[in-house]
Amino acid sequence: MNAYDSMRLGDTLRESHHLEITADPEAADVLILNTCSVREKAQEKVFSQLGRWRELKEQRPELIIGVGGCVASQEGQQILNRAPYVDIIFGPQTLHRLPALIDETIRVRQPSIDIDFPEIEKFDNLPPPRIESVSASVSVMEGCSKYCSFCVVPYTRGEEFSRPFDDVIEEIASLSEQGVREVTLLGQNVNGYQGRMHNGGVADFALLLRYVSEIDGIDRIRYTTSHPLDFSASLIEAYADLPKLVSHVHLPVQSGSDRILRAMKRQYTVAQYVYLIQCLREKRPNISISSDFIVGFPGETDEDFAATMQLIDQVRFDQSFSFLYSARPGTPASDFADDVPQQLKQQRLEILQVRINELARDISSLMIGTVQKVLVDRPAKKNPNQLSGRTENNRVVNFDGPHWLMGRFVDVEITMALPNSLRGRYVNCDSPGSQLLASAKS
Ligand code: SAM
Repeated sequence: MNAYDSMRLGDTLRESHHLEITADPEAADVLILNTCSVREKAQEKVFSQLGRWRELKEQRPELIIGVGGCVASQEGQQILNRAPYVDIIFGPQTLHRLPALIDETIRVRQPSIDIDFPEIEKFDNLPPPRIESVSASVSVMEGCSKYCSFCVVPYTRGEEFSRPFDDVIEEIASLSEQGVREVTLLGQNVNGYQGRMHNGGVADFALLLRYVSEIDGIDRIRYTTSHPLDFSASLIEAYADLPKLVSHVHLPVQSGSDRILRAMKRQYTVAQYVYLIQCLREKRPNISISSDFIVGFPGETDEDFAATMQLIDQVRFDQSFSFLYSARPGTPASDFADDVPQQLKQQRLEILQVRINELARDISSLMIGTVQKVLVDRPAKKNPNQLSGRTENNRVVNFDGPHWLMGRFVDVEITMALPNSLRGRYVNCDSPGSQLLASAKS
C-alpha cells in the first residue's frame, strides 16, 4: 500500500510541479519520506533517516522536507518537535494535497501539518497513474474497521472506505487500453470492498472481480491483502468461475492458537480458517496460500506457538511474511504485558521462518517439469539477455527467449528451482503483445 502511495505521490508532483524522481537526495529539491508505522522497526527508521537529511537542509535551507504516511498521521506535531527542520507533515489520506502544501511552504516558510481523513477526496484529486509496466496496482479500498488489538492501521489510515465501483472499473479499463495485462487490486482488507454502483446498488468484492474479469486485455487478476472475516462464499465461488483470477491467495492468519486469535480480536477461529482453505482448495486444488504471522504476541505460550507450527504444516503455506510482535501506541494490545522475552520471540520467529522456507522450497521443487503461464515483464536481473516474469504463485522465472515476448503471457517449462527464483525453458506463446513493452529497446 505504501509503495502504491509513493508511486501516486510521484505522479502528483510530476503533474503539479514538474518534479522527477531521483534516487540521489543531494540532487533533490523536495525530499519526501513516506512512512509506515505498522511495526516498531519501520517507525524507528524515520528519525534516523531524517537525521541524515538534516545536514542537507543545513547546506541548502530552501530544500523542502516532507514526512507522509502513517507515522506522520500518528505523530503529527511530535515529528516537528523532534525534527524542527521538517517543512510538511501529511497523512496517507492527504497525499493529494501535497502540491498545495509545497506552495504554502515556499510562500510562508512555516511548517504545516495536514493529517485529516478526507476519505474518497484523495482519489478524485490524483492524476491518472503513469503506466510503466504490463502489471499495475489499483487501490480499491482503504482503511480498516476490524480493530485487531495489535494493529495501528484504523488509527492511522482511518476506517474502511471503498472507491465507487464505476471509478475502479473505469481506471482498470483505461489501464488495459494503455497495455496493462495484469492488475493487482489493493486494500488493507481488499475483500471487505463495498463499492457504490451507478444504479444505487452496492458491489461486493466478488462482483468487482467478475466485472474486472470481463475487461478485455486484462488477463490476470491478483489482490492483496484479504482478511479471513470478509472471505465470503461468493468470493470462494469466484475461484470456480474466473480463470483470470490467479491460483494464489495471501490470507493473513497471524496465529494458530484460538486463545491468541481471541486476544488479537481476529474474529475467527483456527477451524474456521482451515475450513476456508478447504473450500478454496475444492474450487482450485493447486491454489497456493501465503499468510502473515505475528510471533510473540503478549501471553503466547509454547503451546500456542506449537499450535501455529501445526497449522503451518496442516495448511502447507507458501512464501509468507512473519513478524516479531511490537506494541503499537494507542492499540489495545499495548496495554497488555509484552511478556514474551525478546530472545524467545527471536527463536520462535526463526523456527517458523525455517519451516515456511522449507515448505516454499518444496512447492518450488514440485513445479519442476510443469508448464507455467508467465507474464514477461522485464529482462532478467542477473543476465539482461534473458527474460523474466512471474508465475501465478508469484515466483520469478528467468529463461532464454526472444525479446518480442516482452509484455506477453508465455508458457514456460520449469527446469530448476533456486531459493529465490526459478529457471525455465520457453515453450510457446499464443498471447497478443502489449504496446507497453513491445516498444522497449531490445
Ligand atoms: N489487514 C490484514 C489483516 O489483518 O489480515 C493485514 C495488513 S497489516 C497492515 C500487515 C501485517 O503486519 C499484519 O498482517 C501483521 O502480521 C503485521 N503486524 C501488524 N501489526 C503488528 C504489530 N503490532 N506487531 C507485529 N506485526 C504486526
